[in-house]
Amino acid sequence: MDFELSQDEKLFKQSVHEFLSKELAPIWSDMDAKKMIPTDLIHRMGEQGLFAIPVPEQYGGQGGSFLLAALAVEEVAYNDPAVATAVFTLLNNAWPYILYLYGNEEVKQEILPLVGRGRAFFGIASTEPTGGSDVAGERTSAVKDANGIYRVSGEKVYISGVREAIEQLDLGSWYLIARTSPEPGHRALTGFAFIGNYRGKRPEGFEYSILNTIGRHAISTGTLKFNGTPVESRYVIGQEGRGFYIAMEGFSLARVLVSAANIGAAQWALETAISYARERKLFGDKPIASYQGVSFPIAEVASKLEAARLLVYKAAQVADRIYIKKEAGLRPHDLDYWASAAKIEAVETALNAAEVLMKTYGALAYTEEANVFRNLLGVLSYFVGAEGTQNIMRYIVARELIGKDYVKG
Ligand SMILES: Cc1cc2nc3c(=O)[nH]c(=O)nc-3n(C[C@H](O)[C@H](O)[C@H](O)COP(=O)(O)OP(=O)(O)OC[C@H]3O[C@@H](n4cnc5c(N)ncnc54)[C@H](O)[C@@H]3O)c2cc1C
Repeated sequence: MDFELSQDEKLFKQSVHEFLSKELAPIWSDMDAKKMIPTDLIHRMGEQGLFAIPVPEQYGGQGGSFLLAALAVEEVAYNDPAVATAVFTLLNNAWPYILYLYGNEEVKQEILPLVGRGRAFFGIASTEPTGGSDVAGERTSAVKDANGIYRVSGEKVYISGVREAIEQLDLGSWYLIARTSPEPGHRALTGFAFIGNYRGKRPEGFEYSILNTIGRHAISTGTLKFNGTPVESRYVIGQEGRGFYIAMEGFSLARVLVSAANIGAAQWALETAISYARERKLFGDKPIASYQGVSFPIAEVASKLEAARLLVYKAAQVADRIYIKKEAGLRPHDLDYWASAAKIEAVETALNAAEVLMKTYGALAYTEEANVFRNLLGVLSYFVGAEGTQNIMRYIVARELIGKDYVKG
């Protein structure tokens, strides 16, 4: 058992850190206040090789691994602790890999190289107004017309990256889940690579809007509305009726990277709390760090973070053993337990770290100038939703541990 990253992995993390400490750290709070990731920053992150990391090079990816993707996302969140750019980065690593695994060759060549260069977005459009946890109950439909073209109707909500995909980049697309036959249940669901923007051109019968969220403002969260929107059959990912299963694989891969974002954000909160606890002096010029009421919560965050980080790296390694090394005897489903366990620990540690940081700052934390609230509101997005709620993570861990005959969804 080796708890150390390899020399190459350490060098990769260090080079990403150096790039982001110049390009992202100085502007993260300004980006959150202005509610926008600058398009040229996305381009530069693409040129730096931060997107489509596990996707092979012949599809314009970096030919890397999920562990490298996790290290990149961790660094992105450390340098933007409101986690907006981390969301952009993790989506554009996990979901393009799903397109690479199951997409049509022509569609892969159309989308993936642009994602790799930071010119395109490929996210996930699953959640509907009727509830995100019940994927099998989704209602958006895709019905084939006489010309063999699918006509999509329905609505997706709380979708990340809508403005970036439609207004900022050359191509904006999602793994879209829709019902291709009228039967209820998950076997009637199909996944599509839905392109909502190609160089400013949008498909007919397609509208979008941006929601007013309370945090991680730099990346938008929005709605996608379909009214008979045409999607050609080559954009089916996998086969008709496989959409639910493929989505579950994508969610597990994305959860590994969501977890990485949370440990990066928690590391920032921890270091920021430590600095302030050393600097702030009270009661006869004593640093507040000298009081156990201040230093013990910091120590507890540090220990939880060490444990969470190991769990996140372990989950990333399991993903690599399944997908990159293709180890015999392992199946995609084997990632579910690790990805969900990692998300439980990483998200709750990040929220705890943000809370401890707020308390350490005292009233200063409650001002906009201090900027620490941006971290709290950013990580909160992962506590309430985003790639599955914490309850759903507990359900998956319990199901894998105790058995699906005992644990019902
Ligand atoms: C900032 C942000 C960005 C997002 N980005 C995307 C995106 O890009 N793409 C996308 O598709 N979705 C996205 N989502 C939506 C997200 O994935 C959903 O929030 C999530 O799936 C939960 O769905 P819901 O919010 O409708 O809650 P619901 O499913 O209505 O659940 C409400 C509550 O009930 C609990 N609950 C539900 N069912 C059970 C059960 N069986 N057992 C125990 N508890 C249960 C949940 O844990 C939750 O606490 C985003 C959400 C946020 C907040």
